[in-house]
This record gives sequence, C-alpha cells and structure tokens, in this order.
Amino acid sequence: MNAQDDTPVLEARAVSKHFTVRGALGRTSVVRAVEDATVRLRPGQILALVGESGSGKTTLARLLARFYEPTSGEILLRGRTVSAGRDARAYHADVQLIFQDPFGSLNPLHRVRYNLDRALRLHHKSLDAGARRRRVTELLERVSLTPAEDIAEKFPHELSGGQRQRVVIARALAVEPKVLLGDEPISMLDVSIRLEMLNLLQRLREEDGLALLYITHDIAGARYLCDDIAVMYAGQMVESGPKEQLIAAPQHPYTKLLIESSPDPERGFGRREELFKDADELGEPPSLVDPPTGCRFHPRCPFAMAECASKAPPRTELGGGHWTRCWLHAKGRAGELAQTTHAAAMTRRVPQEAAQ
Ligand code: SF4
Repeated sequence: MNAQDDTPVLEARAVSKHFTVRGALGRTSVVRAVEDATVRLRPGQILALVGESGSGKTTLARLLARFYEPTSGEILLRGRTVSAGRDARAYHADVQLIFQDPFGSLNPLHRVRYNLDRALRLHHKSLDAGARRRRVTELLERVSLTPAEDIAEKFPHELSGGQRQRVVIARALAVEPKVLLGDEPISMLDVSIRLEMLNLLQRLREEDGLALLYITHDIAGARYLCDDIAVMYAGQMVESGPKEQLIAAPQHPYTKLLIESSPDPERGFGRREELFKDADELGEPPSLVDPPTGCRFHPRCPFAMAECASKAPPRTELGGGHWTRCWLHAKGRAGELAQTTHAAAMTRRVPQEAAQ
C-alpha cells in the first residue's frame, strides 16, 4: 500500500464537539472541546496529532472512533458519511482505538487468550475454536510476543507494560482493521521500550497498509514515526503538513513553541525550564468554556497584533499539503517566525492592550 494514495480511508470533515457540563449551583456551561477540525487519513499514512493536554486531541480521536457523536460536521469512512445509527460493531471492524493505559484496556480477570479470542468471536463469527486458537498464536507472534502459547496463558498482571500494550495491539489487529487510532499509546511505557513500540507500529503500517492516527505531545516521537503532523491548540487545528517541512520551518507560533520546547540533543536545548526561565512566559492553555476571541493563541503569542484578538485567522495554503491559520501570513509577516526563537520573541512582546 503506498502513502501517495490520496483517497482518505477515514476523514473527519469540519467536526465540532461541544459538551454541556453542570457546575456549582446547577449552572450549565458548554465546553467547546473541538471546533471545526478536519483530518484525512490515507491508507498506509501515519499522521501525528500533537498538542498540549486539553487541546482536543483525545476528543477528536474519540469522534473518529465513534465513541462520541459530533455536534456538527461529519465522519466519512472510505468516502461515505457514517450515520449516527450505524452499527458500531461494523464500524469498529474497520477502525480500532488503542488507549494510553494498556492495563485498563484488558480484562484483568481473564487470560490473554480470552482477551484476544473474544475479539475474534465478535468480529469473525465463521472461525471455529481451532482456527481461533491458531489465530491467537499468529497475532501474538506478529507483535513479537513469544513463545506465543505461553503468553496466551498469562493474565494481564503477569506481563510488563510493554507486553500488555502489544497484547492490546494484537487484539486490535484481530479485527483486521483499516485504521488504528493510537491515543498516546506509548506514553505510559518505560522509555527503554518506546522505540520498539514505534518500530512495531511502523512495521504494521508497512505490512498491512494500515492508516494510523498517532496522538502524542512528543514531537520527537512524531518525527520518528509519522509522515505528517497536525497541530491542535485549544480545540482547533492550527497547522498541518509533511513532518520534515513542518518541523524545519513551523509556520504557526504555537507549533514553533512546541518544537522549541521539545528535547533535541542536536539543538542543545529543549527542556521547557531551560528555554523559559520564567514560568509566566509560557502561560496557561485557555479555558474551553470561554475561549479567547479571534485567534485562540493570542493571549500567549509573542507575535500577536490587533487583528489576532478580534478575528479568527484565515487558512493559508503553503504548498505540498502544508497549511496554517495565522495572521502573520495574511499580513506578509511570516518571515519573522524564522528569524527568532519563541523565547526571544516573548522578550520583545508588545503588551496586548498596546497592540489594540
Ligand atoms: Fe499569533 Fe496572531 Fe498568528 Fe494567532 S494569528 S498565532 S495571535 S500572530
């Protein structure tokens, strides 16, 4: 399967998700968790979705997994709109979600064999007990859990975190999906085995042509594994494009902040506390109940200008599938991004009141 096939196998088209929450004194408020997000996954493509906690990444993955219905917009599987009433089991035969916590994903009361066999029974009803037994062995071998017959007889608590996440991946593969949605699938694993897991995901994409949405806040992992990167901030997508282009020359100040604060031995810095001596320089992500007007990043952006607080920035196409939403492009000031670091720009920042 080749990554140049442009027909999306799974697509979120202009989806939004709002949650109504009840607070103190019975007051209700609306959390705008995802706004107008579009994602396209081609067969064999690995797309990283990056952003801070609370940026809407997980909500978007759950919309794509049909765990939530979108407030507006649509989800398309192989070009067809997925209706709200569609059979969930049929949908999950094509789209599988892998959670962050492998222990919570497996039934702890049952052995590995049961956990895998159940997926086979649900999705491949024609397989008899003997065929399912052979399939369990094959699946465990595919994710390099050997000797498979021994692993199949263990309980989840008898496995390491990395082994458990491999079982979770094997269970997802049992369904023979077209798309895997990985919600920070390696973030709870020991650092020493994360690379192995990334290599496993890469191998599965090459062998099966699986499309993978890889949700992470780790730019380095995204760079290693993925073809493309999409960046979310405060529920909105702010930039997306081929990984090398986006990392070498980020075209949105928030992407630039993420890249500059990620570990990079070649650059010699990366830890936030080294880059930003004063925690106030970083600022806090905004509330999704009452998000900032205009560009949602404007309270934290060192390049903010008057328009940023009042009008949402237009989308600018940059070529090669790379796009961003930032007023710097519409105002012919995009060159400023390449000329300075985020931290240096913060020291020259014009206070918002003065910019307006
Ligand atoms: Fe910064 Fe304005 Fe661009 Fe938003 S639109 S990222 S506030 S320069």
